[in-house]
Amino acid sequence: MRLLGVLGGMSWTSTASYYRGLNEGVAARLGGHHSARLLVHSVDFGPVADAQHTGDWATATAVLEEAARGLSAGGAGALLLATNTMHKVASRVEDAAGIPLLHIADPTADALLADGRARVGLLATRFTMEEEFYAGRLRGRGLEVVVPDPDDREVVHRVIYDELVHDVVDPGSRTAYLGVVDRLAARGADAVVLGCTEIGLLLGPGDGPLPLYDTTALHVAAGVDWLCA
Ligand code: GLU
Repeated sequence: MRLLGVLGGMSWTSTASYYRGLNEGVAARLGGHHSARLLVHSVDFGPVADAQHTGDWATATAVLEEAARGLSAGGAGALLLATNTMHKVASRVEDAAGIPLLHIADPTADALLADGRARVGLLATRFTMEEEFYAGRLRGRGLEVVVPDPDDREVVHRVIYDELVHDVVDPGSRTAYLGVVDRLAARGADAVVLGCTEIGLLLGPGDGPLPLYDTTALHVAAGVDWLCA
């Protein structure tokens, strides 16, 4: 089996989902006692989150570049950057590592298109919802992207950073998210992308009126494919 580098810690709750998912996926694929060959660098999210919120993307990027170089030097043949938000600097991280980075938006777009979705709502951090680096990649695949209105974006962002990254799953926040999904449906969305790797802690299949595409699960599946190729 190949060795996959996972750049995690953004947040640790998300990395825990990746670790479980990658191992479950390999075990399901290969059977027996097989498990995923992983090199995981889980960063301290504190300085990264601070840098994001002060707009100091250079500092956040430097943390990831250094970790990516370590994963590559340790023998990883490819990289999973286990967060949507930091894909803002995915190409910098890939260049630093010198190995392929399996971009989280690609398996997401593949799954949406395979199911015939055309106009997708996006739940994510403020950075991912408001900047082009993520929605633009989906649009580049021919998908229309609908982001929540400003008040809803504020709620979605706050719940991620104040609750989900701390492993807090609050029923009131689930209700609030489902309200956001309802409003995206009313605006013509035919699916919703859970474009933040912690949202799967809060919403799951069957919640709300629209099909949900969990980027963590889709990214993990791409990692399993790579490991087992
Ligand atoms: N894990 C989240 C994401 O997928 C947010 C935390 C981060 O900023 O990396 O965007």
